[in-house]
Amino acid sequence: MSSIFSKIIAGEIPSDIVYRDDRVTAFKDINPQTPVHILIVPNKEIPSVNDVTPEDEQTLGHLFVVAKQIAEEHGIAEKGYRLIVNCGDDGGQEVYHLHMHLLGGRRVGPMVVKRD
Ligand code: AMP
Repeated sequence: MSSIFSKIIAGEIPSDIVYRDDRVTAFKDINPQTPVHILIVPNKEIPSVNDVTPEDEQTLGHLFVVAKQIAEEHGIAEKGYRLIVNCGDDGGQEVYHLHMHLLGGRRVGPMVVKRD
């Protein structure tokens, strides 16, 4: 079964796409946590980091190149931003199609919820 992100990439369900090429697609998160919150997604449906293989190296490296470009285009490169990839239940992954969150436009805050 194809993931909701595969359906967005295929144009089967609507989304606000900001970048697309033959390897990755980037679109605005439906529930933004920061003024800029964009998901950068490999077109290949890799469920999670646990499913990555050496043949994915170039595509996954390309996510960073695209993230940098989108950050520049959205005017947040200079002040900074955070890139997040969640994996599995403990990592907080909700959609099992590997993706990178690009978060910025304000101070993003602590990297993780700190232990008491
Ligand atoms: P994660 O918890 O890392 O799996 O993140 C999944 C993200 O996908 C969440 O931030 C959701 O808000 C986002 N999301 C879920 N469905 C959609 C959708 N149809 N369009 C855009 N973003 C979505």
